[in-house]
Amino acid sequence: MLELQNILKSFTGADGRHDVVNNVSLSVGKGDIYGIIGASGAGKSTLLRTINLLERPDSGEVWLEGVDLTKLGKRELRLARGQIGMIFQHFHLIENRTVYDNISFPLEIAGVPKKERRERILESLAIVDLQDKVLVYPAKLSGGQKQRIAIARALVARPKLLLCDEPTSALDPDTTGQILRFLQDINRKLHITIVIVSHEMEVVGSICSKVSLMERGVIAETLDLAERKQHEPKSQIAKLLFNHG
Ligand code: ATP
Ligand code: MG
Repeated sequence: MLELQNILKSFTGADGRHDVVNNVSLSVGKGDIYGIIGASGAGKSTLLRTINLLERPDSGEVWLEGVDLTKLGKRELRLARGQIGMIFQHFHLIENRTVYDNISFPLEIAGVPKKERRERILESLAIVDLQDKVLVYPAKLSGGQKQRIAIARALVARPKLLLCDEPTSALDPDTTGQILRFLQDINRKLHITIVIVSHEMEVVGSICSKVSLMERGVIAETLDLAERKQHEPKSQIAKLLFNHG
């Protein structure tokens, strides 16, 4: 459902040009939970941000369900982005808006009428089981609750694809487990394809069907974790990942 083809993204600093994402191609199937793992600075977040063109690649193509997003005009791109939700390590909730108004925000931008907004906000809150927090401000929520609200906000536009950038890195192990179970549920019950960037082996090892290892801007290796029972892990990273989940 998602194909990245030869994605290139460089940044130029005082010490010259860096190819942060260097000719990356990868293919995410419908219904996959696809992990991208790698050390800090490997280019994971930059790669993830090229998928919804928050970061426009210098070259390469981003095909979502048969459409190359890099070729779309402004208006078409805005519509296409409605199919892609995103969550972040630090949640990115709007502090001076209630939970209700945070989740409402993407729908307001999309011009969805008030009555339909209300239905969809409540539907989204039910998915993350936080209906009782509807009128609370983010400052009154725990980290795990904030991430659940961020998930509700990402789902309110009914996306086909959910991008997650270190979704559990700010959370304790119990809360991490809970968020991962929500993501798994969303994948299975709502049929939403997920791409998850993380540097935590346990996280990707426990929920991903496929994992790419990113090193200095390139994909060094891709593993099909569904096959972990049939194959001996060949590389060190495969051994580590195959031990989880
Ligand atoms: P982390 O695990 O720490 O989040 P990452 O793998 O997500 O790391 P990126 O955030 O993609 O890494 O950054 C990769 C490299 O690109 C880093 O060296 C970073 O400094 C550089 N970089 C990212 N965004 C920009 C930017 N807007 N301008 C200049 N350099 C950037
Ligand atoms: Mg990052």
